[in-house]
Amino acid sequence: MAPSGNVLVYDELGFHEGTSVAELLADRGCRVEIATPGMIVGQDLGVTLDLELWTIAAASRGVVCTPDVTVSSADEERGGLRVVLAHHPTGAQRVRTVDWVVTSVHPRADDTLWRALRNAPFPVHRIGDCLAPRRAHAAVLEGERVAAAL
Ligand SMILES: Cc1cc2nc3c(=O)[nH]c(=O)nc-3n(C[C@H](O)[C@H](O)[C@H](O)COP(=O)(O)OP(=O)(O)OC[C@H]3O[C@@H](n4cnc5c(N)ncnc54)[C@H](O)[C@@H]3O)c2cc1C
Repeated sequence: MAPSGNVLVYDELGFHEGTSVAELLADRGCRVEIATPGMIVGQDLGVTLDLELWTIAAASRGVVCTPDVTVSSADEERGGLRVVLAHHPTGAQRVRTVDWVVTSVHPRADDTLWRALRNAPFPVHRIGDCLAPRRAHAAVLEGERVAAAL
């Protein structure tokens, strides 16, 4: 079932995963707020020079950006989810009732293929996101190390 209605995207990563999902859901007609404990929403997008594009994309889609908050509770309530957002610099709390909460948190490795092949009669190495989801540089570096050792 796809999220619809009022959606809170809670982003603990500050990179493309949360902001891209927020943009996608807004394009699908959801009313989206993206909240993060970071000092700005999508703070790591500065690294790839995508922050400005994201800011324009969010504004044109009416995505509400809420930095500096943590979710202190989320409970089912008749007709939705009652979420308490705590503004961590001041402790002020805000209650929101939404239809969906989508979290962008550290991903789990999809190593199904490696598990299937690990006992094969030839060497099998695990690199990049299959080892631990990170960013492209890790896959390149680990791939180079494996190749150099062959
Ligand atoms: C939305 C988003 C934006 C990102 N933006 C950036 C960025 O701007 N800069 C950056 O450095 N990193 C970024 N990343 C992270 C980056 O994409 C990954 O760290 C990188 O792609 C990891 O490379 P990889 O080769 O380990 O895995 P992948 O790129 O995921 O490649 C693994 C491949 O294996 C295939 N596969 C998996 N299981 C099987 C199977 N059982 N059988 C056959 N094939 C299989 C998959 O289909 C995939 O093609 C982003 C990630 C996301 C989700």
